[in-house]
Amino acid sequence: MTPSEIQALMDEPACAHNAKGKTGCAKGKPGATQGGCAFDGAQIALLPIADAAHIVHGPIGCAGSSWDARGTRSSGATLYRMGMTTDLSGIDVVMGRGEKKLFHAVKEAVDKYDPAAVFVYHTCITALQGDDIEALAKAAAERFGVPVVPVDCAGFYGSKNFGNRIAGETLYKHVIGTREPDPVPESAQRPGIRVHDINLIGEYNIVGEFWQVAPLFDELGLRILCTLAGDVRFHEVQTMHRAELNMVVCAKAMLNVARRLEDDYGTPFFEGSFYGIADTSQALRDIAARLGDPDLARRTEALIAREEAAARAVLAPWRERLAGKRALIFSGGVKSWSVISALHDLGMDVVATGTEKSTEEDRARIRALMGADARMIEDNDQAALMATCRDYGVDILIAGGRYLYPALKSKLPFLDINHERDFGYEGYAGIVELARQLGHAIANPIWAQVRARPSWTAPRLALVA
Ligand code: SF4
Repeated sequence: MTPSEIQALMDEPACAHNAKGKTGCAKGKPGATQGGCAFDGAQIALLPIADAAHIVHGPIGCAGSSWDARGTRSSGATLYRMGMTTDLSGIDVVMGRGEKKLFHAVKEAVDKYDPAAVFVYHTCITALQGDDIEALAKAAAERFGVPVVPVDCAGFYGSKNFGNRIAGETLYKHVIGTREPDPVPESAQRPGIRVHDINLIGEYNIVGEFWQVAPLFDELGLRILCTLAGDVRFHEVQTMHRAELNMVVCAKAMLNVARRLEDDYGTPFFEGSFYGIADTSQALRDIAARLGDPDLARRTEALIAREEAAARAVLAPWRERLAGKRALIFSGGVKSWSVISALHDLGMDVVATGTEKSTEEDRARIRALMGADARMIEDNDQAALMATCRDYGVDILIAGGRYLYPALKSKLPFLDINHERDFGYEGYAGIVELARQLGHAIANPIWAQVRARPSWTAPRLALVA
């Protein structure tokens, strides 16, 4: 990518950050950890295309630092979980063998695994030495008869979020619009119910949590052409242009795909979340309203009433235990507000939330949920975060896995909300699971023990007595 192409891609009119100055790599701060690079972001966004081979063109370290990092699940194909790399060495760089190795890697992947497509990823080294992966992908596709998609995402182009955007741009340029959807199967037709096609953009199906929501779509007669990208197949991405509506789920980084589909195909989009009862119901209502189908709207309301009643009945004992507990959420982007809504459903107080990766729109939503005085934490300094937890007397820290040990060392209950977690929290079933995990974390008897004064520090007098 040339500097002007990078600059053009940073200009995203649908993004609330767009008016601000554009930067590439995040500026490092001593003592603070940095997020991933553009390559990392692009691969994370595309890896859930489960029936494709994903070849990282570069040194082994690049592949090792990003492979399977998001914990996304597939209901069938598992090829995406096979780490593939050209494993470039110093000698390969000196001898100029990069492109040759990549061509052979594509051949090997096609011969051994018969993938639906092959994605090849640029990294810093291969971009710096000028490997032309676009020309190579074209030649390899013609030679092997399989779509080969070049992802020009060298790490130094920018941040992880920018890598997500590169992934969206790549799909838009090379994949979306290259196939028509299959007709709705007879078995999925029901008399009097019109089937609508929609896409979910930014739904990663972490630990399979979208499978808790998918049956609701089936019941309503909503066919999901593509979930970009979670439990998705290559041919589904190809048909995204035919959806009637796009829902941007919990990830602004792929907003460029939604905006371009609106510009070129007139497909409207909106942003929503499946975390918490209120947001799940609102998302379903928004879909029905935007599709303009009164019968769908009526059936949606009936489904919401049924699901909410069932979820609230199961939640009642958990709400009793959790009501009034104080939580601090430290998670990036959309989770900074969508999880607040879920915790409010449980009667909990959110005393502060992290907004390091949040957009202006995310911040506005936080203010709407928590009030104008909402405490927002901008940087990821762990010591300051723990001090804030102490000052506010929080009962639990909800954050990504890297905050697990600081929380435990501070004797503070912790819940992992990021992509490494083991439990799915989406939909009506997800809020029940969230309540259960919060309840178990806060009520764990270990806290009373580790916070108690050790017996060997008891006053000598008491020991004598
Ligand atoms: S910054 Fe460059 S070298 Fe490092 S992981 Fe990303 S692509 Fe690889």
